[in-house]
Amino acid sequence: MTKIFCVANQKGGVGKTTTAVNLAASLAAHQQRILLVDLDPQGNATMGSGVEKTACQYTLYEVLVDELALDNACVRAETAGYDVLPANRELAGAEVELVNLDQRERRLKNALFSSKQRYDFVLIDCPPALSLLTLNGLCAAQGVIIPMQCEYFALEGLSDLVNTIQHVHANLNRDLRVIGLLRVMFDSRITLQQQVSDQLKQHFGNKVFNTIIPRNIRLAEAPSHGLPGIIFDRSSRGAQAYLRLGVEFMKYTQTLFI
Ligand code: ATP
Ligand code: MG
Repeated sequence: MTKIFCVANQKGGVGKTTTAVNLAASLAAHQQRILLVDLDPQGNATMGSGVEKTACQYTLYEVLVDELALDNACVRAETAGYDVLPANRELAGAEVELVNLDQRERRLKNALFSSKQRYDFVLIDCPPALSLLTLNGLCAAQGVIIPMQCEYFALEGLSDLVNTIQHVHANLNRDLRVIGLLRVMFDSRITLQQQVSDQLKQHFGNKVFNTIIPRNIRLAEAPSHGLPGIIFDRSSRGAQAYLRLGVEFMKYTQTLFI
């Protein structure tokens, strides 16, 4: 069975795309068959996987709006080792067009269901908004990964996201659950970050991944080379952390679906 996860947080710039791209590459490096869905008109996950977003014949837009078969829009990110359902600016228009369409929250779910490809995992990189696009991601997924920085305002806004997830769980998708909070861009030298990190673990217990992603410049440099960090510089601390996250994630999901 394909396991489908969203990487979501309506805050901007918290490390969603970096997490989606590097977790996809990490799982692929562990011999998993992966599809990365770019649900963000910014197209960062597309470009960060080495796929030129302006050169794609089809993108997620046609899949959501015109009901193009998903397999026809997916492209192979050869070096990264996984498939990508790409996005570009066009997708911003879908937000408006979807409003008047049938099953507007379930269009991604239906498209994934019709795919003939056998993926082990589908990862969905959500935009920084609780929009209809994000709702399509949440309706399609069994779990949500929430990257967050260990800062004073980290929990601010988390309740809006959790409320949305609860609403989707109650009304649209009974399978949905929060898989885990992921501490990212972590700097252990900063006392406040250490304190917030400890508090998160105390408060949310096993809903927090044990793996912590450090702040690491190699992860930030990788997208400009069109590569996931773990391919760009596998020995870097950031890459090693995402490789460990892949292992933790696979173990965790095995216990979830038996
Ligand atoms: P948006 O909300 O705009 O989609 P996002 O949540 O997807 O943003 P990213 O694009 O992943 O966030 O990250 C924001 C910036 O931080 C990027 O420049 C990225 O390269 C950098 N970054 C992400 N994670 C790390 C890290 N662990 N160490 C250093 N830089 C990082
Ligand atoms: Mg992003």
